[in-house]
Amino acid sequence: MKKLYIETLGCAMNVRDSEHIIAELNKKENYTLTDNIKEADLIIINTCSVREKPVSKLFSELGSFKIKKKDGAKIGVAGCTASHLGKEIIKRAPYVDFVIGARNVSKITEVLDKKHAIEIDTSYDESTYEFEDYRSSKYKALINISIGCDKSCSFCIVPVTRGEEISIPSSLIINEVKRAVKNGAKEIVLLGQNVNNYGRRFSTNDNGAKNFTQLLKEVSKVEGVERIRFQSPHPLHMDDEFLEEFANNPKICKQIHVPLQSGSTKLLKEMKRGYSKEWFLNRCNKIRELVPDVAISTDIIVGFPGESEEDFKETMDVLEKVRFDTLFSFKYSPRPHTPAASYPNQVPSEIASRRLSTLQERHKEIQFEQMQKQVGRVVKVLFEDLRSDGKIAGRADDGRLVVVKGSEELLGEIKDVKITKAYLTQLEGEISGV
Ligand code: SF4
Repeated sequence: MKKLYIETLGCAMNVRDSEHIIAELNKKENYTLTDNIKEADLIIINTCSVREKPVSKLFSELGSFKIKKKDGAKIGVAGCTASHLGKEIIKRAPYVDFVIGARNVSKITEVLDKKHAIEIDTSYDESTYEFEDYRSSKYKALINISIGCDKSCSFCIVPVTRGEEISIPSSLIINEVKRAVKNGAKEIVLLGQNVNNYGRRFSTNDNGAKNFTQLLKEVSKVEGVERIRFQSPHPLHMDDEFLEEFANNPKICKQIHVPLQSGSTKLLKEMKRGYSKEWFLNRCNKIRELVPDVAISTDIIVGFPGESEEDFKETMDVLEKVRFDTLFSFKYSPRPHTPAASYPNQVPSEIASRRLSTLQERHKEIQFEQMQKQVGRVVKVLFEDLRSDGKIAGRADDGRLVVVKGSEELLGEIKDVKITKAYLTQLEGEISGV
């Protein structure tokens, strides 16, 4: 068996793409995984381009691969940076053997033996390709429901690197859910750039689900599925039918990501997000009304071109009103091929940094208060992570990390846990009734 070393940067979709790469190379080329780069016959880095930092990380990683690799070992670059830099990567690092884009994963075995192969066509459609099977987690299965993105948020490079949005036929999705459950998965995580825009376009027809709410119903009917999560939905497509299914379907975990980006309606227009501050607040209030114990997370960008102190106050106002349980926040990072990168009145970095720390400090206080509210609650936890200190950890239904005393017999089990203590990012508890 040949040895494969793979490093994955970025989002859950990249994690799933890496699983697909591992599966194809294992089944079709006899590769097995190693975490020792020095013994690898093939080294792949699956890249992210959402901000500049991961892109610069790529070239420093490539440099260290070149030093560490054994004679004759190959190096490949996959993912979003591969899609938009393409042959530029080989020019800057000629020791790289191939470049394969985020939309061309199914072609991994084709590029292996072609020196300097570049496979980055973002119009290539692999929405009906059935990948071999490999999962990095035994109990949780990541499942793509669409490829690409049809939105054109002015700061975002994803449509450039992952191409137009095509939904995967639900018959293929349900087959994959059944296979994952048969192999031990209890939790299904449905992935897409805009999951609740599912069904807008298929490349082949089938008689299955035509929108996301229908797909959620179908997935929850599969025997053995105990939990369903999804990422990421778009606030624009949060209609009442979808939110009621989210609230009333007992298998859907009560955790939802509602990416805000900015609280200023003026800026949301510049960002081409398609919704206003009022719509966003309306949807979050609806979610909290339908599911009082829900955990809401969000993404926020500060320092977007043209962001004034007033605009930033709007963002802080939404933070106070929604009291997000989890926040992913970043300074605006100009991305190549995106409109906002050439917008006038770019915000000076030091102002963006000040706003980011103001936002993160206030959020930390809110997060801590939200965590304290969990003490005394009994929550369902899927245990996945055995720790060395006689403890075991897992995620509650609302996504919060919970740690209890316990050992391997709890792995893969879903248990009721009474929360006894809360920290900023994790909860402690006791198995209920034990
Ligand atoms: S919805 Fe917007 S932010 Fe999300 S991937 Fe698509 S273009 Fe990017």
